[in-house]
Amino acid sequence: MSSAYVDLLAFGAHPDDVEIGMSGTIARHAAAGLKVGICDLTEAEMSSNGTVDIRREEAADASEILGLAYRSCLKLPDRGLTGSPEQLAAIVAELRRLKPRIVFAPYWDDRHPDHNACSRLIEEAVFNAKLRRYLPELPAHQVEQLIFYYINDVKDVGLVVDISPYYDIKRRALSAYKSQFTAPSGGNDQVATPLTQGYLDNVEARDRILGTSKQMAYAEGFIVKRPLTIDLF
Ligand SMILES: [Zn+2]
Repeated sequence: MSSAYVDLLAFGAHPDDVEIGMSGTIARHAAAGLKVGICDLTEAEMSSNGTVDIRREEAADASEILGLAYRSCLKLPDRGLTGSPEQLAAIVAELRRLKPRIVFAPYWDDRHPDHNACSRLIEEAVFNAKLRRYLPELPAHQVEQLIFYYINDVKDVGLVVDISPYYDIKRRALSAYKSQFTAPSGGNDQVATPLTQGYLDNVEARDRILGTSKQMAYAEGFIVKRPLTIDLF
């Protein structure tokens, strides 16, 4: 599952962030023939449940379910997304190698500080990727549009994507992350976290509500900082 080029590239701080926020959109565009990639900045080694190895397998399963053309993990430190020059360079290199037209990052005002740090880093990396004098060994790349998706907190939704026919794929992709969403019981080593307490039901309820504004069964919401171009003909 590797490729030198993707049409759409979505970044998350942890494997499962992108699936929570926009896996229906990913499934829809992959099914339409676009090459879609996910890049996880960290291996989520600070997660209360599961292990890095388990999480890697779960991400691979989810990638298969979504029809991804590419998935990578930059192995930056979980809870340590400081925005250092080295971290920024690693993300810019990924952008310049994959040359996505559209990049997705987490919404910048989420309750999880890593999601906000990821959001800031991707915005800076998209900017630097087009500067030909920054890391001149790789050719500069201009991303057409940076779009933000929601993980936990949803505010000021600017656009929605109809994912109704792809909702079952989203459910299956999220279910691949058993270590994150399985409730503790006598027979497993889980601890209770917000993710183990009905989280997926809440994601589904949110996606239903996002759909109601446009008479869709299910939708995912997004927001942009720079104006989007639309064609009216
Ligand atoms: Zn996360």
